[in-house]
Amino acid sequence: MTVDSSRDPADLAARAAERHVLVVGGGIGGLIAARECAKVGIRVTLLEEADAVGGAIRRADLDGVALDAGAESFATRGGHVRALLEELGLTDRIVAPEAGSAWLAGIPGVGAAPLPVGGILGVPANPFQDDVRRVIGWSGAWRAYLDRVRPPLTIGHQLSLGKLVASRMGAKVRDRLVAPVTTGVYSASPDDVDVDIAAPGLNAALTRVGSLSGAVQALRDGAGGAAKAPGAAVEGLVGGMSVLVDALVEDLDRFGAEVRTGVRVQSVRRIDAGWTVEAEIEPDPDADADEEAEEPLSFTADAVIVATSEAAARALLTPGVPALAHAAPSSSPEIEIVTLLLDAPTLRVPPRGTGVLTVPGSHTAKALTHSTAKWGWLREAAGDREIVRVSFGAQGEPAATADLSDDDAAELALREASALLGVPLAPGSLLAAHRARYVQSQPASIIGSGERRAAARAAVQAVPGLAVVGAWLAGTGLAQVIPDAKDEADRLRRTLLWE
Ligand SMILES: Cc1cc2nc3c(=O)[nH]c(=O)nc-3n(C[C@H](O)[C@H](O)[C@H](O)COP(=O)(O)OP(=O)(O)OC[C@H]3O[C@@H](n4cnc5c(N)ncnc54)[C@H](O)[C@@H]3O)c2cc1C
Repeated sequence: MTVDSSRDPADLAARAAERHVLVVGGGIGGLIAARECAKVGIRVTLLEEADAVGGAIRRADLDGVALDAGAESFATRGGHVRALLEELGLTDRIVAPEAGSAWLAGIPGVGAAPLPVGGILGVPANPFQDDVRRVIGWSGAWRAYLDRVRPPLTIGHQLSLGKLVASRMGAKVRDRLVAPVTTGVYSASPDDVDVDIAAPGLNAALTRVGSLSGAVQALRDGAGGAAKAPGAAVEGLVGGMSVLVDALVEDLDRFGAEVRTGVRVQSVRRIDAGWTVEAEIEPDPDADADEEAEEPLSFTADAVIVATSEAAARALLTPGVPALAHAAPSSSPEIEIVTLLLDAPTLRVPPRGTGVLTVPGSHTAKALTHSTAKWGWLREAAGDREIVRVSFGAQGEPAATADLSDDDAAELALREASALLGVPLAPGSLLAAHRARYVQSQPASIIGSGERRAAARAAVQAVPGLAVVGAWLAGTGLAQVIPDAKDEADRLRRTLLWE
């Protein structure tokens, strides 16, 4: 029997120590990829342009209350995030959100009503169910009922969720029930959402069962009932999701990785057997103009992992990966989250459950989360104050706050919160506000995004010593980005150590 000496642990460790990987971008994708490399002994340098790592996981401090200004939970599906949290010793911090229904606001002729239970992506299993009928009215319910009597194959295999719903159950179901969910969750119109990705099995069940509402019921029964509907369950962390970022940074430090913030990478170029990365130090907004060190930086490495947003990744990579230019860039919605700390005793008994989705076009805000109603740990931390976060902006619709000053954005958010919660909130109730801007990656469930992502990934993987991670390739959400970044880093690490 021959022994492959390249797999000898001592030999591998020695090889690892000689390798250097540069990670560009310190969002969750970059942090995970960096950790996967660092934990086998590879030298890792992570460069992040912002003054803190975490990307869309961002901590805000509102008058001493630390909370999430970006991602605030994770989908439990797949168990990947929980497994990571266990590895990092954070199991004790995992919490479920408080029970409590969400609401819908901006329903024509109705105003606000509880979001009906028992559907999938807002598509109801029974259009005559009381909470559904309250939103779409009798006429909408009878139109939706036609779905039960129309033959299933008249429309063929429909990819667009919006078109499928409108043709089977009518425009009211699409506009009042489905659009608020897809806009709130994916920042996208239902017409752009690919049914087969957003609700796998729904089309097949439709053909099998003979109606869309019947297919919804069949899928929910198959998933074990309402509580276990696919993709529905989320969990959070006591202290917020940035606790995860802190733990990853600590781990990177333990593994000897270098994390540099305030460093913007400008180019990634192949040289002989490795890579060179040019960067510049981001100017400190608080520093004197004369003091600013516009020091250009240059790094070399055996491999590079690009973990930025799509636009930045394409700009950095296209010169070295011309095939990327053929995988058409997708547009990414720009959204803003304004988080408000309120002195508002009228919100102590949550008037609209844990949050509100809006019928598109009815309000300038896209959605609202009543954070102190949703998370018990936050209610404790806030004492007798309330916290709500108001989201603005969606695909093709700039955030209404985009051009406003911070004060004006907070004022608008307060007015929207009052309207969405159905409770007067005087300007004096506003104790503090935090505003954050994000470019959200196009979700994986947008029609055509699967092909675009596969083409981009194939183009990158064809280049030795290069990897790309992050939501623009993995799909939006921690449950997607984390396992994908692990897999990509593992692929790269194998090529570095074993080839
Ligand atoms: C407001 C909001 C709420 C969300 N809520 C949830 C939620 O509750 N649950 C959930 O699972 N998901 C949620 N998501 C989605 C989830 O947060 C993201 O999918 C995920 O965090 C993306 O991670 P990423 O590493 O791909 O990108 P990012 O987090 O965007 O990180 C990319 C990083 O690259 C850096 N960068 C960019 N260009 C350069 C450069 N040239 N040089 C150096 N650094 C650079 C950026 O500064 C950034 O830190 C939310 C997203 C948003 C925006």
